[in-house]
Amino acid sequence: MYGYHGKILHVDLTERRSWSESKPESWYKMYIGGVSMATRLLWENIKPGCDALSPDNPICVANGIFSGTPVPVGGKYGLASKSPLTGWLGDSLSGSWFSVTLKRTGWDGIVIHGASDQWVNVFVDDDRVQFRSADKYLGLGTFQTEEAIREDLLDDQVRSATIGPGGENGVLFANVTNDGRQAGRTGHGAVWGSKKLKALSVRGTQGVVVADPETLMRMSFQIIEAAQGPHTSKYRLLGTATNVLNMNTLGLLPTRNYQEGVFEGAELVSGEYLEDHFKVKKIACAQCPIACEQISAAKQGLYAGAMTGIEYECLYANGPNCGISDMNAIIKMIDICDRGGMDAMSGGVTVSWTMESFERGVFTKEDFRCSKYPEGFEPNFGDGEAGVTLLEMIRDREGIGALLSQGTRRASAQVDKDRGTESYKWAMHIKGLENPGYDARGLKTFALGLAVGTRGGCHNRTAAYDPDIKGDVDRFSIDDTRGELAKDTEEYAAVYDSLPLCKFIRRCFSGRADREGAWPAIRDLINATTGWTFTYDDVSLIGERAHTIKKAFNIREGWKRADDRLNHRWHHEPMTEGPSAGHVVTEEELEYLKDLYYRAKGWTSEGLIPKDKLLELGMADVADEIGV
Ligand code: SF4
Repeated sequence: MYGYHGKILHVDLTERRSWSESKPESWYKMYIGGVSMATRLLWENIKPGCDALSPDNPICVANGIFSGTPVPVGGKYGLASKSPLTGWLGDSLSGSWFSVTLKRTGWDGIVIHGASDQWVNVFVDDDRVQFRSADKYLGLGTFQTEEAIREDLLDDQVRSATIGPGGENGVLFANVTNDGRQAGRTGHGAVWGSKKLKALSVRGTQGVVVADPETLMRMSFQIIEAAQGPHTSKYRLLGTATNVLNMNTLGLLPTRNYQEGVFEGAELVSGEYLEDHFKVKKIACAQCPIACEQISAAKQGLYAGAMTGIEYECLYANGPNCGISDMNAIIKMIDICDRGGMDAMSGGVTVSWTMESFERGVFTKEDFRCSKYPEGFEPNFGDGEAGVTLLEMIRDREGIGALLSQGTRRASAQVDKDRGTESYKWAMHIKGLENPGYDARGLKTFALGLAVGTRGGCHNRTAAYDPDIKGDVDRFSIDDTRGELAKDTEEYAAVYDSLPLCKFIRRCFSGRADREGAWPAIRDLINATTGWTFTYDDVSLIGERAHTIKKAFNIREGWKRADDRLNHRWHHEPMTEGPSAGHVVTEEELEYLKDLYYRAKGWTSEGLIPKDKLLELGMADVADEIGV
């Protein structure tokens, strides 16, 4: 088989053994790689209904079809487990050298079962699997752990995916990190921590054999050339932080825990300001000619020396959304998350929920006693030092940090139960996953995309904000086109997540990002890699199948129509300032939109998947389990 190795590695942490599983080419044609293949591996290997932090929840890693080839931005892998944060599917992507090196080990994916009784570093060295003690790495940050493993193995070609103290301590939004990139959201780090898996390391010497190297090389060079032009300039020059001012102009920049959509300090946290005052250098994932990652450093004051990559989502969450305009403090907050191995979006939104809860009297100063402030402190919006301290307490699960480490859904439920409050009304999550940096009260197609998403509050699995922001539809109202739009945009995203290719390359195939612009080139890249004869429609099917297996997983875990919902604030509280003021997404509007969406998907009115639909997609075994 070209492009793949045809086998999956299974590792059992409980019994410390490993074995190989061969997969037929037909399986690869169905699930391709990345998030799609990782979710399929999870479907096959999990005990349905299990506790996400139990040994029965496997870690499923699936590499990309283009990893290790010349195809730009194709060095990515998918990761799937049941999410301890949401209780639904936890699927993530990361990229760079870990993915390329995994390809060279000769495995297309790795499934890790069971749980270890000692902290362990699993080292996959071509076809050998070693279980190394990880005791000496405990407490080390993510970047430090990767470096320490390389030094111990005396080989700078070893690449590792690791957890930091956040994952070790069971923070439910802990990440897995490799090469400075995060497999973020949904709490993979907590799953790894529950298994005492500190790191998964890889070293490989196998080649990657493709069917048509000349075509692959020619196309790759064309794409690399296009990626140096205007189609990626936004990402190359300022990175995604450029969205700060754009979102502020539209009145969609989450401010003070999504109370408003315009931030008075937006200029001070903009991509432009970051570039002029804090940027140190740009870096790129392996196989990437774009280099969107803006490494920035705090240069003065309390946090001088803090340094990490800054992009829009972590910036809005820890900046405007916490009312903070001091970029030094924001960089420190994100740095704590990245080195501590925590999701900076969920971390920031959990801090903003805490600040609002404090200002509304749910918490008092005494609730925030800690080693740094034995008398407690007052976490008001805008207080960067409070934001830094809260994230440190969450990472270490110190004091109230233990409650906050569970994310906004659980923390608000616990506080409301204990104190008789209603803090759930400003807990900004969907399905337990903290929201992204676009206020959906002013983006109604996006509101639908988020509500029905299998992952929860995630902007990466649905591009339904696109027609809203571009003005293809009226972003403040609804009409009967939105179901199709939500379906199309989520399946479009699923194609990229299943190859995977970084979505920032999407305009570099022909100048157009839509299916007509991108699918012909993606089809040709797949065929040149594998020797298959995929058509334009087969590319679309990648996205539909990927989304279907994700949905099927959630259905098997007990998903019901009522689980597709937004948060209280977006339903009931309009913003009062800026161009998006005065709007909410009513519950009636959302129910109507869900009807449209389920119909567009070919599902029942309850959002379940008919057997015939699954058979049409070639998913007979899935039909047997969840088809109706
Ligand atoms: S554009 Fe950015 S995220 Fe995408 S592959 Fe390149 S460096 Fe990585």
